[in-house]
Amino acid sequence: MKYIVALDQGTTSSRTIIYDKDMNVVASAQQEFRQLYPQPGWVEHDPYDILNSQLDTLRAAMEKGKIDPRDIEAIGMATQRETTLVWDRTTGVPVYNAIVWQCRRTAPFCESLKQEGADLIIQRRSGLIIDAYFSGSKIKWILDNVPGARADAQAGKLLFGTVDSWLIWNLTRGKSHVTDVTNAGRTMLFNISTLQWDDELLSLMGIPRSMLPEVKPNCADFGLLDRSFLGAEIPICGVAGDQHAALFGQNCVNDGDAKNTYGTGCFLLMKTGDKPIFSKSRLLTTLAWDLGPQCGGTPQYALEGSIFMGGATIQWLRDEMGLISSSADSEKVAQQVSDSGGVYVVPAFAGLGAPWWDMYARGTIVGLTRGSSRAHIVRAALEAIAFQSYDVLKAMQADTGMVLKGLKVDGGATANNLLMQFQSDLLGVPVIRPRSIETTAMGCAYFAGIHTGFFSCTEEISENWRANRVFRPNLSPDDVEVRITGWHSAVERSLGWAKK
Ligand code: ADP
Repeated sequence: MKYIVALDQGTTSSRTIIYDKDMNVVASAQQEFRQLYPQPGWVEHDPYDILNSQLDTLRAAMEKGKIDPRDIEAIGMATQRETTLVWDRTTGVPVYNAIVWQCRRTAPFCESLKQEGADLIIQRRSGLIIDAYFSGSKIKWILDNVPGARADAQAGKLLFGTVDSWLIWNLTRGKSHVTDVTNAGRTMLFNISTLQWDDELLSLMGIPRSMLPEVKPNCADFGLLDRSFLGAEIPICGVAGDQHAALFGQNCVNDGDAKNTYGTGCFLLMKTGDKPIFSKSRLLTTLAWDLGPQCGGTPQYALEGSIFMGGATIQWLRDEMGLISSSADSEKVAQQVSDSGGVYVVPAFAGLGAPWWDMYARGTIVGLTRGSSRAHIVRAALEAIAFQSYDVLKAMQADTGMVLKGLKVDGGATANNLLMQFQSDLLGVPVIRPRSIETTAMGCAYFAGIHTGFFSCTEEISENWRANRVFRPNLSPDDVEVRITGWHSAVERSLGWAKK
């Protein structure tokens, strides 16, 4: 066998990458699909758009690489997380669109759960904080709002799945109803310590157990791609949520290793070890991965924090402010000045997440003087991405007592060298950009290959992972302190702004 296929099912596009044994890309294909916004704050996907776009890219990549399906060792899959689907066990027809992780429709229910004081039990069992983001309240919404759905679910006629389960169920022609520990861990229904669905959480959310998929380690037999798709049966044996696959794909295999993905938002994960650490700063506790019995069978955990406005801050400079003509332009403009001249931009456009957690915070620009220029503001906006990441990483270090030795980075905005340099300056540790930025696809390809023995547990990933550029800290501790103090005063001025 020569190849591993990685299916990377993201929020806005589906991708397939075919790797050879040395993790060289042999062929790839990508397809965007529709985002549905039926009401303000609601986000949905058509379940068949998810499935068909993924299948189209699989077929396209196979064709481009002229790959014989019999040469494929295994399929790995990394998916957008939390997005919720419910379908009929017999016909396979979804009873509603996929409710996407970004969708806020269940915020009022989540508010009521908080009022009932369910915070602590939910955090202790699931590692999560109560939020509309996670799948549990989305399943409940479908059962409460689709006519007949609750009765059908109680009669055992309906199945729930995150995107991984939906894809596998279809790719195996209904033979496998399964998920992996990392996706299960984002439902608010899963006990991350016992690795079981949790009856108390299920009853809080009013969800029948019969709907739920079987949960497996990330490296496991998830089923066989049905022969009807490519003309050969291929085992699906690596599955993970996208951020977890990226953490592994970044070779963050030691405790205290961390990665930050700088996309529209930023996703930071730090691997913390084989016991869950429950955060005091309201970070999420999440499974990092479970490589299964062939690699010792001990699940690994991580802390996760996200930043709502990462690259989105740069899009705002471009689209709303008209201060730059392209995202890449932000670097050139920011370089016109040597620092932000005391200007701070706090991009709290949608409130602030970890560690502030203030949904009433709003964006602000402070420290303007008569000499403040476009370049100062652009630079301050870029720096804000690094400041926010700094705050999350500090909270992670406080929760774990672990000292960060370096930060691995990926995502679109890592193309910005000024941002990467400033991130390193603030953290006082190297910021490391890998040669291959397809960390998500690589992670799930490794999971699949580990299960079949194509790869050993962590040796290949450690050998194959290469840095493209390392940014080293280059600012004095005094200068760093002045900037952090300035940033925190700016954040204070943004807090609570929209509270009536
Ligand atoms: P996503 O997966 O969330 O769509 P990507 O990883 O593709 O995001 O990254 C896109 C984001 O990165 C956009 O918000 C864009 O503004 C930002 N970005 C891209 N290039 C640069 C750059 N050179 N400097 C700063 N931000 C950038």
